[in-house]
Amino acid sequence: MTLQASAFAPLGLSTPLLRAVLDEKYASPSPVQAEVIPHALSGRDVLACAQTGTGKTAAFVLPILQQLAAQPPPSHPPARRPIRALVLTPTRELAAQIAERVSVYGRYLKLRHGVVYGGVNPNRQELALRTQPDVLVATPGRLLDFIRQGVVRLDGVTHFVLDEADRMLDMGFLPDVRRVFAELPPTKQVLFFSATMPPAIEALTRTMLRNPARVAITPKVTTAERVDQSVMFVDRADKRKVLESVLREADVERAVVFTRTKHGASRLSAQLDRAGIAAAAIHGDKTQSARERALDSFRTGQTRVLVATDVFARGIDIDGISHVINFDLPNVAESYVHRIGRTGRAGASGRAISFCDREERPLLTDIERLIQRRLPVQAATAMPNVSRKLK
Ligand code: AMP
Repeated sequence: MTLQASAFAPLGLSTPLLRAVLDEKYASPSPVQAEVIPHALSGRDVLACAQTGTGKTAAFVLPILQQLAAQPPPSHPPARRPIRALVLTPTRELAAQIAERVSVYGRYLKLRHGVVYGGVNPNRQELALRTQPDVLVATPGRLLDFIRQGVVRLDGVTHFVLDEADRMLDMGFLPDVRRVFAELPPTKQVLFFSATMPPAIEALTRTMLRNPARVAITPKVTTAERVDQSVMFVDRADKRKVLESVLREADVERAVVFTRTKHGASRLSAQLDRAGIAAAAIHGDKTQSARERALDSFRTGQTRVLVATDVFARGIDIDGISHVINFDLPNVAESYVHRIGRTGRAGASGRAISFCDREERPLLTDIERLIQRRLPVQAATAMPNVSRKLK
């Protein structure tokens, strides 16, 4: 295929970027790319409501690389070239993924990039920063450490991306995000991405964006349509026993179990382990390396069960998850959609079972209102004493 015939050409992308996209064999731009890229190339601020999996990384990386490549050569001596684009993202995994995409999409351009995140020894990252990257991908806490030590300056930034703003909020990172933002010069392009728009995020957009182009990509309903969803009415005290019997069923290949609290996740995974069901927990109190170990053992099949809190729902990018079990219903109905989206991926089908005790009934109503359907009720048959008690 010639570059002009590429379905990406009408977006206004330059030859080196069209070539890189062609290498990736993307047939056509995803909706978020088709909407964001032309606005971003025009220099406008963009506010995009889009989830992971929609192709949002390319939607911000491509126009930023193009604009940086088109800027006049910096007048600074090489050793003092400023960082010109900053991408802030909440987790190490996302930072690494985005940096990898920067190198893929930028392979025909002479731009340098760096990545910094917490949870690892900072020395190597500091060395990488001294090579004067054009694009820096960072998590907020570690970036602030480097700013405070005088290793990083952000006064030459012309393009700023805030990725997964709502997850920054969930993880308690908004104060750090604001501190980083305060280091940026007054004039810059801001591309703001968030899967949901809770009030705190709306408020943040008003302080960060100027007359933004608004893009809303609704999550693909098909994701949820491939998921066979049901609810089990279970007393709180019986949830663990019911979970064990569900997990012992033969068709459970890989299951993610969601709890509402970090403590609940740790306790439950330990209890499952004791009951002979190998499980690992992933939540915000675990160190980065413990989280990676948990994800790795789940990915390789050493543990069949991963117990997680909502913050990680969108970070679990693993195919072949046959079941999502909501041990606790989420407080925010949108989280339900993120949770069940972990299964039924890549064309496979999946099952989502939600436990609901009496106190959680209002949460179930919220979820059913959001997804605009009633969840079929499944009896907890594997636990005869439980179903009897509930009658
Ligand atoms: P993201 O939402 O940015 O995490 O992207 C999700 C996945 O979609 C990544 O593996 C990308 O490589 C891939 N991708 C991005 N854009 C396209 C496209 N236009 N066509 C097909 N795949 C894409």
